[in-house]
Amino acid sequence: MTDQPNSESPREVDLLVTGIGELATPEGEQPLSGSGMGRLSVQRGVAVACDAGRFVAIGPEAELIEGFRGRDTLDAGGGLAIPGLVDSHTHPVFLGTREGEFEQRVAGRSYVEIAAAGGGIRSSLEGVRASTELLLLEVLLPRLDRFLQLGTTTIEAKTGYGLTVADELKGLDVIAAANRSHAVELIPTCLGGHDVPPEFKGRPEAWIDVVCAELWPAAASKAAFADVFTESHVFGLEASRRLMESAREQGLGLRMHVDQLTSLGGAELAAELGAASADHLEHVSEHGIAALAERGVQPVLCPLVPLYLGEAQEAPARRMIEAGCAPALSTDFNPGSCYCMSLFEVMSWAALRYGMSAAEALTGTTLNAACSLGLGHELGSVEVGKRADLVLTDLPNHTHLTYELGRNPVRRVIKGGAAVH
Ligand SMILES: [Zn+2]
Repeated sequence: MTDQPNSESPREVDLLVTGIGELATPEGEQPLSGSGMGRLSVQRGVAVACDAGRFVAIGPEAELIEGFRGRDTLDAGGGLAIPGLVDSHTHPVFLGTREGEFEQRVAGRSYVEIAAAGGGIRSSLEGVRASTELLLLEVLLPRLDRFLQLGTTTIEAKTGYGLTVADELKGLDVIAAANRSHAVELIPTCLGGHDVPPEFKGRPEAWIDVVCAELWPAAASKAAFADVFTESHVFGLEASRRLMESAREQGLGLRMHVDQLTSLGGAELAAELGAASADHLEHVSEHGIAALAERGVQPVLCPLVPLYLGEAQEAPARRMIEAGCAPALSTDFNPGSCYCMSLFEVMSWAALRYGMSAAEALTGTTLNAACSLGLGHELGSVEVGKRADLVLTDLPNHTHLTYELGRNPVRRVIKGGAAVH
């Protein structure tokens, strides 16, 4: 497990982490599907050495203390250590919050009713459009602090609250600026297909024309992925296909919000297009699940969202795992349908609502999430050679990841081999 030569004097490294009670991590660079999703490496009494931003040794503590001298050292205090958490679906670039809508939903109004009355995504447009890049960055950075405090070291970050070419590009520039100034790594996604902007009400085709001709080409150098909200009240199957095929021509990877509120067949479309991820999937059909499994398209599931929206239908996660899919788990952090940044909360709810084991939940928030972002070779597990993103908790073992609700168990966060929280 180490690349340490048998030299006599200890090798100097940037960071040596000792006092780990249990190290729990999935392994490999590929998404774990089926029964493999619950197969973790669980080691006790190990230490971890990090250098030049990467894990360079993981092994028995006594051996590492002898073989390495850390310029910096951390004592994990006997708790559980896990890979830096990866949130593969967030919408963090927005100005105001929407707690009023939450109150309306609690009182019985539905997400679609609120959207039809001018709330929802459209109510967040005004804030983003009226804001400078600097202001949006100022409100984003404290959110990233909170992600980091909660053990999340990488997030996929979507735009989608601008919905003009200039405002979507502004959102991508905000994400790039955050990447330069914050320890959390952001993977940018242009969500130009979030909604039909009010200026294009009744003429969605005209907005699709603009996105295909202007937005995707301009976003291609700033974003890793393009995304669309495939739902009959937003973009139907043919409109979504047009948007995604055009994005792919520009070299953008594809992520899609599909089968969230109705069973439209978005999963089948994501499979046909070979998308990197098909997200939500509360109403996916058996045919859709089979298509995702066959094409190796990863589901990204958001167990807090139906809870938050007061929707009864849950994504059939167990069916997906049985069919051979490799789901990731995410918060879907956004001002409307999930104002929560905690992947620990997501893991607990994935256990309670989907019947996932703690091991499966950890794989879903680490390796499988990283793989859905094309980063399985770099992130998502604690293994020699990968980037040294590590979370030290006060939990006694990994089964507590799902067992304990409502408290942040994070003691220290290490990103790229440096203690950042
Ligand atoms: Zn979303």
